[in-house]
Amino acid sequence: MSLTRRALTRSAGAALLAPAGGRAEPAAPPLVLTGKPQQGGFLFGRSAPRAQVLADGVEVGRASASGLFVVGFDRDAPALAEISVRTPQGLARQAVQIAPVAYDVQRIDGLPEDQVAPSDPALLERIRRELALKTAALGSRDDSEDFAGGFIWPLEHAIRTSAFGPQRILNGVPKTPHYGVDLAAPEGTPIRAPAPGLVVLAEPAMHFEGGLTLIDHGQGLVSMYLHQSAQQAAAGQRVARGQMIGAVGRTGRATGPHLCWRMTWRGRHMDPSLMVGASA
Ligand SMILES: [Zn+2]
Repeated sequence: MSLTRRALTRSAGAALLAPAGGRAEPAAPPLVLTGKPQQGGFLFGRSAPRAQVLADGVEVGRASASGLFVVGFDRDAPALAEISVRTPQGLARQAVQIAPVAYDVQRIDGLPEDQVAPSDPALLERIRRELALKTAALGSRDDSEDFAGGFIWPLEHAIRTSAFGPQRILNGVPKTPHYGVDLAAPEGTPIRAPAPGLVVLAEPAMHFEGGLTLIDHGQGLVSMYLHQSAQQAAAGQRVARGQMIGAVGRTGRATGPHLCWRMTWRGRHMDPSLMVGASA
């Protein structure tokens, strides 16, 4: 299948393009996509129960028992994506235009050097160990539909001090982009689970992240809560939407009390704030 220019032109202005390719498969599964197809955004999909889901031709898992799935788009996702679903009866696919986002550059100075360019061997070993913990937790693939009912903000009141995505220059050194949304609030402010899920990591003192909790919302969608001063949910525990999971702090690499809220889908970095209010 190749997406023709004509197909693109025909749907100009619409974020979701018409099904690509002219050949209709008589028993193709349903494929309905809704959401925010932009860099850092997502789509919720509806198809046949347990349909295989493919993103850009690569199988990324199966739809839930009721046919729901989610696909996330990375901060730097290319302009065009293709979502397909496959059952033994047929294949359906849609080309999707991914809206670009212009990201700022953000400079933060005065951070302790061991938070920006650590060199102590024992610290490097600790960072490696903690990375392995995070990688394992981000690999969690809970078979739930916890994402489908939508997300609320993890803090009831907060000031957004950093958006998702700016390129960061820490103590003058260019670093990876900021993959979270920073929400400033007084130390001790309760953090609530923005959607139901399975807690897959709850570590009180990570070098960079400080008190860190990870929640698996199903389909490879994992949210992260950094810099907490206290935690109220343990790994292995299921949480409900609105349930307290911890408290705002300034542990790890933080210049003041805030919650850094992050979200990933199968290794892609997403803007969690785009999820607020959306439902499948
Ligand atoms: Zn942050």
